[in-house]
Amino acid sequence: MELEAKQMSEYFEIEGDKLKRKYKQCPDCGPGYKMGEHKDRHVCGNCSKTIVKK
Ligand SMILES: [Zn+2]
Repeated sequence: MELEAKQMSEYFEIEGDKLKRKYKQCPDCGPGYKMGEHKDRHVCGNCSKTIVKK
């Protein structure tokens, strides 16, 4: 699947030569599925997958 630049910019931002992720993306749901930011974890709004912050 090809991501359009416009779509990419919603989730990434360029800083120098690095691509910075604005949001943590759900590893199960794939690109476009943002994970909610919580104090000690990220939770996917789609599948409710939880990733505990290290
Ligand atoms: Zn998910």
